[in-house]
Amino acid sequence: MTVKTDVVYGNYIAGKWQEEQGEAIASINPSDMHEVVGYVQNSSSDTVNQAVRAADAAARAWRKLSGAERGNYLYRVANVLEERLDDIAETLAREMGKTLPESKGETARGVAILRYYAGEGMRSEGDVIPSTDADALMFSTRTPLGVVGVITPWNFPVAIPVWKIAPALIYGNTVVFKPATEAAVTAAKVMDCFDAAGLPTGVINFVAGAGRVIGNAIVDHEAVHAVTFTGSEGTGRTIGRVAAARGAKYQLEMGGKNPVIVAEDADLELAVDATISGAFRSTGQKCTATSRVIVAEAVYEAFQQRLLQKTEAIQIGNAVEDGVWMGPSASEAQLNTVLDYIQVGKDEGARLLLGGNRLTEGAYASGYFVEPTIFTDVQPEMRIAQEEIFGPVITLIRAKDLSHALEVANNNRYGLSASIFTTNIQKMLTFIDDMDAGLVRVNAESAGVELQAPFGGMKASSSHSREQGQAAKEFYTSIKTVFVKGS
Ligand code: NAD
Repeated sequence: MTVKTDVVYGNYIAGKWQEEQGEAIASINPSDMHEVVGYVQNSSSDTVNQAVRAADAAARAWRKLSGAERGNYLYRVANVLEERLDDIAETLAREMGKTLPESKGETARGVAILRYYAGEGMRSEGDVIPSTDADALMFSTRTPLGVVGVITPWNFPVAIPVWKIAPALIYGNTVVFKPATEAAVTAAKVMDCFDAAGLPTGVINFVAGAGRVIGNAIVDHEAVHAVTFTGSEGTGRTIGRVAAARGAKYQLEMGGKNPVIVAEDADLELAVDATISGAFRSTGQKCTATSRVIVAEAVYEAFQQRLLQKTEAIQIGNAVEDGVWMGPSASEAQLNTVLDYIQVGKDEGARLLLGGNRLTEGAYASGYFVEPTIFTDVQPEMRIAQEEIFGPVITLIRAKDLSHALEVANNNRYGLSASIFTTNIQKMLTFIDDMDAGLVRVNAESAGVELQAPFGGMKASSSHSREQGQAAKEFYTSIKTVFVKGS
């Protein structure tokens, strides 16, 4: 039996929610696949064209507002999101399977991001540069790019759209936003906060549908001047090629295979707790999730034993229920990817220490639940230690010393985040210096991003620009150098 819902979202174009157009896409609750959380549109490239035209028409008036005026709109959006926090967080938990406390935390982060960027409208946007001509004034200022295409994944359906849309808008751009279909109902509710805040017509537009159709139509549209994307590496590379071919600016934030190094002098309790939190919260579906744990030989057995005990105690269940610590995989496709990788690990000869199965008894039968899984004695070149799994699976790898641990940690195409657990200052400094990752953390889990700091990866994790904090300005603006001399 399928429990239906009456939550149906059209697209949002030129300041209005559009009537539904034909076939809609159902969004399924991964904790209970019989529940449809809501519906969004399976849009065509014609709809993208309408949205881009609306954003283009709004661009000039929007950029002419002062930063403070644009900021006031963002403060209003933040207030609406805060008022609707409980409803949006519950939708997020039902649609994507992130536990309710984590969903509330993510939505609250969305509010904080909006307020941070609202304040940006009042901050400095350039430098005065001494000219060689003593009678001249030379300075740099920032101008918006125009229409920005925002393409987002399903794993943070509130925070990622907001950390792209808020800076795009505050720096004077207009937006066409395409969420991941798997979490598009949550994204539509976020979009509705912008509507309720009364942004001028066309400044932000929302189109739902298949990535290959409408995502591609956004990236390839001549009037879209820049594209910001977070998602998988394969999709990101395609978007980069299409955008580069027509000279559009682009930014790609992609996968990770994030290592944690546990040195022999580490606080093991701290290291175990942080590994569990980094690896299994959000069911391992964070780009910064811990997936390789590289442990010094001297403490390997002790670390492994504590990790095993604590992981066994994890409460798995429906994301909206009290006391549940880990929800399901977000979709059937994601669950199957995780199960396939577990099989790959077994076939490669890694030893399965814990988990490895889909949960199918009782209420679990209706959802996409998988056990937290630990492989031990993993060889660094195995596929499960090289490829992003995006599920609750960790690989334990032995290291002789720090230099060996760093060699293993860097032996991967990705470079998003990494942690070390040590009480030795020299080891901390060596790690900070030698680890090739955009986010390096000492005595803290690999997953953890602060909105006021730059965020992004090295190597195949990114197109090497940065999001969030002041760094966002680099992507969403163009520098104009001004030279002024009295006549
Ligand atoms: P995905 O690449 O499948 O989809 C991301 C978005 O791209 C979706 O909106 C999708 O519809 C769209 N899309 C798909 N094909 C397209 C095309 N040809 N042209 C334009 N758009 C297209 O990724 P996902 O499964 O939604 O997300 C999981 C991935 O995201 C993981 O790899 C994860 O590591 C990554 N991620 C990275 C970060 C980061 O900041 N580095 C953060 C979160 C997630």
